[in-house]
Amino acid sequence: MNKKLVSLKRASELKGRIEDYLKVIDSIPKGYEEKVQKSYKEKKQNILKYYNATENDWNDYKWHLKNRIEDPEVLSLILSLSDAEKKDLIKIGSESRWAVSPYYAALMNSTNIYDPLRLMSIPLVNEIIDVQGDLDPMNEEYTNPAGAITRRYPDRLIINVTNICAMYCRHCQRKRNIDYIENNTSRDEIIESINYVKENKEIRDVLLTGGDALMLSDKYLEFIISELRKIPHVEIIRIGTRTPVTLPQRITDDLIDMLKKYHPIYLNTHFNHPKEVTPESKLACLKLADAGIVLGNQAVLLNGINNDKFVMRLLNQELLKIRVRPYYIFHNKHVKGISHFNTSIDDGLEIMEYLRGYTSGLGIPYYIVNAPGGLGKTPILPNYVVSRGKDYIVIRTWEGKVMEYDNKPTVPLKDIIKDNESITLFKDIANSKKI
Ligand SMILES: *Cc1c(COP(=O)(O)O)cnc(C)c1O
Ligand code: SF4
Repeated sequence: MNKKLVSLKRASELKGRIEDYLKVIDSIPKGYEEKVQKSYKEKKQNILKYYNATENDWNDYKWHLKNRIEDPEVLSLILSLSDAEKKDLIKIGSESRWAVSPYYAALMNSTNIYDPLRLMSIPLVNEIIDVQGDLDPMNEEYTNPAGAITRRYPDRLIINVTNICAMYCRHCQRKRNIDYIENNTSRDEIIESINYVKENKEIRDVLLTGGDALMLSDKYLEFIISELRKIPHVEIIRIGTRTPVTLPQRITDDLIDMLKKYHPIYLNTHFNHPKEVTPESKLACLKLADAGIVLGNQAVLLNGINNDKFVMRLLNQELLKIRVRPYYIFHNKHVKGISHFNTSIDDGLEIMEYLRGYTSGLGIPYYIVNAPGGLGKTPILPNYVVSRGKDYIVIRTWEGKVMEYDNKPTVPLKDIIKDNESITLFKDIANSKKI
């Protein structure tokens, strides 16, 4: 066969490898699609009317924070809830904190109890009758050497700057920090944390998280970031926030003007479903990216929400479009109250297997299991090395084609160069050209 024919045959084989995906994407809800936007705009108007508020209020994150929905009566502007459901919600809410920004609430589907945004923000009875799991499966309380720090790694650490979030995710892995008492970490505790960083010269990467780091005022956040920037060994500062997803209005021009004074700044957010990628969240991410802030996404693998290879692929592709690089998919830890979200590790492996080769490498995050006891993030990957021989390994490609690949020991460079006379010859020629 000639080259052209071989290429055409291979191209048609590759086309076949995307057909299943193309068939299902239409059925996955997307935040920007007309149907979702129409319903969002109607709900937004209902909420604005209820609060007697304006379009300007809707664009103001402080308005959203002041009016977070945490009462079943207000929620019933959005969802059709029976009286029994409202009662249940009050009972569940007294044991497990919930609150949703009006923005995020308006994106929910009124009747579908499996709506991903609803599942992520409105508690189910399961939460309070769950007997599985532990409140602190990562032993964070044993990895707190000073202030509000969590340290699990040699060169980097977390400072927990608040326990507040714009929306309390039902699957939150730090549920034990979320409380009815909402607190930003005190100035004293922050100073103690910063001093720890100052005194420990190996710390080159500081992550501000919580809660949601962008629940702090610009001023308080700037105080922390500017103090960290004064420390010569702090190379990068990272911000952990779900506001681009749950409250994109938080990404104001003032915030961005402040952040970009302290580069390099990295920001990791937490999209879990393509329905969360809306025009508003897109605008927030583009603004951050334009300011030179490098954006990453840390999704959590959640039963019934995104433990599906097509949903995860679409999500990651949508994220690349808004300049967010998929960074991690976390396996859902066994935190008490959220075991209905648990998936098998095999679900995660199936997704990872399906992403490699099928979509841009840029859209492939690492699948991470947090080792129990706070022992750190552990990547779980499909096996691409099938077996080993003496001087070779057997590899498996993304399509499952298996082949031997050479694996001879590396020869040190100096040994190769020493034996090679052409190098001297090359030098002579180079020298003669200089003259
Ligand atoms: C996740 C985490 C980090 C950051 O880890 P990366 O893999 O570098 O993103 C740092 N410290 C703690 C305690 C963490 O849990
Ligand atoms: S934004 Fe993060 S910290 Fe806050 S509730 Fe959601 S997962 Fe938990």
